[in-house]
Amino acid sequence: MSQQILIVEDEADIRELLRFNLEREGFTVHEAADGTQGLALARQYTPDLVILDVMLPGVDGFEVCRRLGAQSETSHIPVLMLTARGEEVDRVVGLSLGADDYVVKPFSVRELMLRVKAVLRRGGRTAESPVLERHGIRLRTEAHSAEVGSDMLNLTATEFRLLEDLLRHAGSVRTREQLLNNVWGYSFEGYARTVDTHVRRLRAKLGEAAQDLGCTDRKSTRLN
Ligand code: CA
Repeated sequence: MSQQILIVEDEADIRELLRFNLEREGFTVHEAADGTQGLALARQYTPDLVILDVMLPGVDGFEVCRRLGAQSETSHIPVLMLTARGEEVDRVVGLSLGADDYVVKPFSVRELMLRVKAVLRRGGRTAESPVLERHGIRLRTEAHSAEVGSDMLNLTATEFRLLEDLLRHAGSVRTREQLLNNVWGYSFEGYARTVDTHVRRLRAKLGEAAQDLGCTDRKSTRLN
């Protein structure tokens, strides 16, 4: 079965451009022209990826991203945001939105397709041990779920991979570069901030279980 991608974008020309190129690569494409419809289609299809424009009429892309992350049916879906330059990029990187990546408009189709594939590749589950358990944190890679004690955690796709990486390397120091390679799959501008933001967000969700998860120095992170 082909992978499904939901495009949430109010500009018909851009939707058409994306649909054409994604279908040519074998993806099944769903389209929404505003945030409300986007949220409804995300729940209906639970696509493998959402491409989400920031500037939308009504509910904007930031809010759509936040709501996707807040609902357990959709929080695991990776989100690739389309942003204008400057302030919007800062907000995507800096705020607790849970977006997995962003592409700045006007984008090259080729770059966007590479990003789409990178995000989808990272979302794939590994064949390694399906249950990781340390420090009261239990992570089931196949079910894509994580628990602290008896509490289910609501993690985004990136937070899940980050936690998985930290648990698999428990006791050793992880540099930002290692996290970037393993969790994100490639490097991009502003990556240090991105890694730190995701680590901070993950720590907040883990609560006390995150006591040993943190930056041990400016360049590294570990979960003892
Ligand atoms: Ca727009």
